[in-house]
Amino acid sequence: MKIKYHPTDELIEHFTAGILSPALSVLVSTHLDLCPRCQQVNLEVEESLAEQLITTSPAGVNTADYDQMLEHIFNSPAPVQQPQRQSLHSLRVNGKTFVLPPTLARQYQRIGQWSRIPGKMFKAPVQLGSDECIHLIYMDKGSRVPEHTHKGNEVTLVINGVFNDEQDEYRDGDFVMLDQQHKHQPQTQSHDCLTLATLDAPLLFTAGLPRLLNPFSSLFFK
Ligand SMILES: [Zn+2]
Repeated sequence: MKIKYHPTDELIEHFTAGILSPALSVLVSTHLDLCPRCQQVNLEVEESLAEQLITTSPAGVNTADYDQMLEHIFNSPAPVQQPQRQSLHSLRVNGKTFVLPPTLARQYQRIGQWSRIPGKMFKAPVQLGSDECIHLIYMDKGSRVPEHTHKGNEVTLVINGVFNDEQDEYRDGDFVMLDQQHKHQPQTQSHDCLTLATLDAPLLFTAGLPRLLNPFSSLFFK
């Protein structure tokens, strides 16, 4: 099944340039693990960044120093390559085992304990050492997140499985970015779903009884 939702090219550029927040970096990098199209975009961005570095010496920098710096960079030993073999790290939740994509396998030590959240779901924090809130979220078959909008951006990456909201259905590799404008109700039907999700701000529930949960929304997802 082809991936339908990708990070924007701008987001990939920021990732390649190393200026994304730790949480978004992990999300984009995990998407790249799963998406040949964006791996290609990433390669092109890397090439054009390298080209810019070679052809433009920044203003105010002595050209000789700059040339020396470039020489140093290009003569430095290449960083140690990550082993290409399949990651051995897998994750168990609700009696199921998921093999982690390489980016998450490298963060394995930072993945916390699973805890239950309302609506047949489980969450486990990924501790990146920043203030951001990023979680693995497992939705069992037939589970449902109360309808909500966001104070900030919500980014969800499907690692394995299927979920849907009012707009569409999302599968392995889909990178779904929503802002305050969007109101939605993620749910699963006959499949379960493992996602990686980050929020700029706690969820703000909007409809019916779940509104009572508002003061606690940060407990669910933070
Ligand atoms: Zn992609």
